[in-house]
Amino acid sequence: MLFTDLGLSEPILRAISEEGYTSPTPIQEKSIPAVLKGGDLLAAAQTGTGKTAGFTLPILQRLSSTAKTGGKRQLRVLILTPTRELAAQVQESVVTYGKYTGLKSTVIFGGVGANPQIKAIAAGLDILVATPGRLLDLMSQNCVSLANIEILVLDEADRMLDMGFLRDIKKILAVLPKQRQNLLFSATFSTEIKALADGLLNSPALIEV
Ligand code: AMP
Repeated sequence: MLFTDLGLSEPILRAISEEGYTSPTPIQEKSIPAVLKGGDLLAAAQTGTGKTAGFTLPILQRLSSTAKTGGKRQLRVLILTPTRELAAQVQESVVTYGKYTGLKSTVIFGGVGANPQIKAIAAGLDILVATPGRLLDLMSQNCVSLANIEILVLDEADRMLDMGFLRDIKKILAVLPKQRQNLLFSATFSTEIKALADGLLNSPALIEV
């Protein structure tokens, strides 16, 4: 299979080809069409499988095909990750794959000053990559609104639970619009992850690689 068979637009295909990717990885073959359809997704995937592009590419595609014309940019996608390293990596992928789409993103995480992050959010964004603690912190300061989120990604959800982020995740979920697409990625499926997925996902497509 080739990336051109997956229904991705030219600006995204151009960015992928510049990265030297020719064919999608097994998880990408499954996740890209599933996410493009607009439904929820539950994916069992380890790091190194290409899972990041597996959700980033179809998200970029969905955002660009339903671009809001005129007015201020609205934050439409929230990607939660357990660590700042992963958040930074995911953001780098969003920038790389989205460089010809005109979409804007930023990353926020703890352990560094919040002011540059607050400024980046205030400038207007389509996609926010965040660790839960810093996101809640900026939400409590009214620096970020999640009222227009259309797609939520929980990346490495098992690690987020291992790190004790369940309460934070629940607080974040509580303020998201009810009508939205949810994508949950996890390397393992404990009882806790299953419970989280049950409460979060509506008839998800299931992917295992
Ligand atoms: P991930 O599992 O998302 O952390 O990705 C692992 C690595 O695979 C990253 O360095 C990506 O740049 C690379 N990668 C992702 N998708 C592809 C692909 N379709 N072809 C070649 N390399 C890829």
